[in-house]
Amino acid sequence: MDKSWDVIIVGGGVIGSACAYFLAASPDFQGRVLVVERDPTYQNGSTARSVGGIRQQFSTPENIWMSQFAAEFMGGVDRTLAVDDELADVPFTKKGYLILASDEGRATLEANVAIQHAHGASTLMLGPDELASRFSWLNTAGLSVGSFGSTDEGWTDPYALLQAFRKKARSLGVTYLNDDVVGVVRDGTRIVSVSTSSGDEHSCGWLVNAAGAQARFIADNAGIQIPVRSRKRFIFVIDCQNAPEGCPLTFDPTGTYFRPEGQYFICGKAPDPEDDPDCDDLEVDYDFFDEVVWPNLANRVPVFEAIKVVNAWAGHYAYNTLDQNAIIGCHPDVSNLIFANGFSGHGLQQSPAVGRAVSEIVTTGGYVSLDLTRFGFDRILSETPLAEQNVF
Ligand SMILES: Cc1cc2nc3c(=O)[nH]c(=O)nc-3n(C[C@H](O)[C@H](O)[C@H](O)COP(=O)(O)OP(=O)(O)OC[C@H]3O[C@@H](n4cnc5c(N)ncnc54)[C@H](O)[C@@H]3O)c2cc1C
Repeated sequence: MDKSWDVIIVGGGVIGSACAYFLAASPDFQGRVLVVERDPTYQNGSTARSVGGIRQQFSTPENIWMSQFAAEFMGGVDRTLAVDDELADVPFTKKGYLILASDEGRATLEANVAIQHAHGASTLMLGPDELASRFSWLNTAGLSVGSFGSTDEGWTDPYALLQAFRKKARSLGVTYLNDDVVGVVRDGTRIVSVSTSSGDEHSCGWLVNAAGAQARFIADNAGIQIPVRSRKRFIFVIDCQNAPEGCPLTFDPTGTYFRPEGQYFICGKAPDPEDDPDCDDLEVDYDFFDEVVWPNLANRVPVFEAIKVVNAWAGHYAYNTLDQNAIIGCHPDVSNLIFANGFSGHGLQQSPAVGRAVSEIVTTGGYVSLDLTRFGFDRILSETPLAEQNVF
């Protein structure tokens, strides 16, 4: 194999594969792209373990814009990522996204929705009566308001999106290598090459860090610190005989969420911050379901009183401990290392916008479509959070 590449991407999850696709599809890019992925089954990465939610209900304008692009992209994803006339099969289930608030959370939710409206999102605000009439299965006790994204919000199949990006990227000439990047060679302000566990060295014009929850090890190798840590989240699959009809992806004020998945529902909740250590294992804590998730579910949706857990898994957020927002772009000291990291719980829906942004950095040196400058390194270096309010 030739070992000289214009762009090397470390990690072939949904972010790395979106970067590979957008680069290969760009008329302004004629170079050679290598994606190095240590686990071609993708079974342990964040992507395949994600909930796949897509929403414009954020408080950071950039997050709203990125999800608007995701909705647009998903609208034509079958043709855009078609290979040899075979359409890409990536669903976008637009059953909406509902975020519920008690009196305590009302002001924040209203402020978030005002920002969403200012940036073109059509989020509805529903009072308890409207909530009860739209969602007859919902217990509205203790609810003050709900924000409902009824258009262009819902969820996709994360693994299908990853595979569609990957397949299309490969059809456009991107090379995927099953190997593990173990070293990054930096010469002053530039990355020169990476070394892999199989003993190879690959030189690059650009290096993209798309290593998900392991991103900080690539950064460390380049002599750069990023506040990205691996944090565990559980997803429980439940069977409910009298399933709520027309159920959107719903967040209770407790942070407990649920959505339909085929004949079942999936659900979960982020642990409290003091119970959320850095973590690499994938063990499931079923007590967390019994003691925390289920009581919240049963309170909000009475038919969830009678449910059975039929499956469960754990996955890792690449958690940005500074502000739970993405880190995108180059560090000021290294001109050809692009970070696409720290997406916390919303990277799946950001993958089209991130892939496009990274291709724009490579081809033009800056942003063309969406200005994502505020997700750059300046705030990391000055430790000035760009805090997203709507994260769970
Ligand atoms: C439980 C859960 C629920 C989520 N829900 C949502 C949601 O509803 N909506 C949403 O938008 N997002 C959600 N997310 C977040 C989303 O899944 C992630 O932000 C997104 O998948 C990140 O993609 P990635 O490509 O950066 O990471 P990954 O999919 O983890 O890919 C990184 C890849 O890099 C590879 N890699 C790492 N180090 C190396 C190395 N040294 N050499 C070679 N390869 C390497 C890994 O093997 C891995 O395949 C959720 C995540 C979890 C865990």
